Amino acid sequence: MPARVINSDLMEYIIMNNFEFNTLAIRTGHLQTNEQEHSEAIFPTSSYTFKNAAEAAARFSGEEAGNIYSRLSNPTVRCFQDRLAALEGGESCVATSSGMSAILAVMLGLLKAGDHIICSSSIFGTTTIFFNQYLTKFGVEVEFVDLIDLSAWEKALRGNTRLLFAETPSNPVMDIVDIGALAAIAHTNDSLLVIDNCLCTPALQQPLALGADIVVHSATKYLDGQGRCLGGAVVGNKTLVGEAVFGVLRTGGVAMSPFNAWVFLKGLETLNLRMKAHCENALAIANWLDQHPKVVKVNYPGLKTHPQYALAQQQQSGFGAIISFEVIGGKEAGWLVVDQTKMISITANLGDTKTTITHPATTTHGRIDPAQREKTGISEGLLRLSVGLEDIKDIKADLERGLARISDKEKGC
Ligand SMILES: *Cc1c(COP(=O)(O)O)cnc(C)c1O
Repeated sequence: MPARVINSDLMEYIIMNNFEFNTLAIRTGHLQTNEQEHSEAIFPTSSYTFKNAAEAAARFSGEEAGNIYSRLSNPTVRCFQDRLAALEGGESCVATSSGMSAILAVMLGLLKAGDHIICSSSIFGTTTIFFNQYLTKFGVEVEFVDLIDLSAWEKALRGNTRLLFAETPSNPVMDIVDIGALAAIAHTNDSLLVIDNCLCTPALQQPLALGADIVVHSATKYLDGQGRCLGGAVVGNKTLVGEAVFGVLRTGGVAMSPFNAWVFLKGLETLNLRMKAHCENALAIANWLDQHPKVVKVNYPGLKTHPQYALAQQQQSGFGAIISFEVIGGKEAGWLVVDQTKMISITANLGDTKTTITHPATTTHGRIDPAQREKTGISEGLLRLSVGLEDIKDIKADLERGLARISDKEKGC
C-alpha cells in the first residue's frame, strides 16, 4: 500500500498526477495543520510571530520565505489563490478585496503615465467609469472599441498600447469575442490581453489557455455562488501577476479577508456542478423568452440565433447563465416586469443560486452616457436576468406575471 498523501506532499501529488478540474477545485491548496482538520482552516490573524530576531530579519529581507503580515500573505487566502490558479491554468494568483480592486491592481501594477489602453465598449458599468474617470487622471489614455469588431481593435493599436481589456461574454448583452484572435492582435504589438472571466468562470472558459495574458475575476459572483462575500482575483504568470500585481497588493492593501477566502474555497468545490446546472436552467428560460410574444429580442449565446453561437460553442464549454432580453414597450414595460416579480430578487448582483433581475439602463449602466449605452445594445426595454438554480417552472411563472400585463398595443414600439 502506498503511503497516504497528506500535508504538503498532497500538492506535489496533485501536480504529478495531472488532476482534473473537479479534483483540483476540491483538493488544491489545502495544507493541513498539526490539528489534522479535514476542512480548510480560517486564519483570522493580522500578523505572524517570529522565533527570534534573526528569523524576523530574514523574513523581512526576503532571505527566508514565510508569513509576516496578512496584507502580504495569509494561509486561507493562499489556499484560495492556489486553487483558482490551478483552475485557470495560471502560475500565479493574487486575491483581492473585490472584483474592482482586482482590476485596479492590474492597472496600477502594469501601467504608467503616457500608456494607452484599448477597452471593449461593452463592459461592466463600474469598469467603464473607473477607466474614464480615474485612469485618465493619471495620464493613461483609454480608447473604447466594439467588442466583436476585431479590425477596430487592430486599428486602435499604437506604439504605447500597453494592454487590451475585454469581458467575454459581455455584461449585459452577451456579445462574445474570439479570445485567441484578440490575443494574436495584442501580441503583434507587444501588448497584453486582459480578460474579465467573471461570467463564465474557469468551469466554462479558460482564457489563459486561449492566449490571454491575465484573467481578472469578481469572486463575488459565481466563485462564491451564493451572494455572500465580496472578493476578486488576478491570475497570470509570475512576472506580471506574482510580481507586478502582487506589488500593488503588498503596498496598496487591497487584500482579501481570510473569512471571505474560506467562503470562496467552499464555493469553488461545487463550481463545476453549479455552472452546469445554471447553464441548463438559463437555456430553458432563454428558449421560452425567445418564443414569448412580449419579448422583442433575447441575448443568450446558447440560442442558435445568437450571432456568435458557433464561437461560443468552440470557446466555451457552456453558455453561462446571464440572459438579457428586450420587452416591447420600453422602460415602462421593463419596470412592470421587474415590479411584478414576487420570488426573483430585484438586485444587481449576479452569479447567485437565487435568480436576480435588473433594468440595466437605470441601474448598473445608469451612469453611462446614454448615447454610448444605446450603442452597446442597452436599450430602455432591456432586462437582465442572472438565472439561478430554482425550478424552471417557478422562474417562468414569476416572469410571466409581468410579461402578461404588458399591453399588446405596445407591439412594434
Ligand atoms: C461584478 C463585476 C465586476 C466587479 O466586481 P466587484 O466584486 O463587484 O467589485 C467586474 N466585472 C464583472 C463582469 C462583474 O460582473
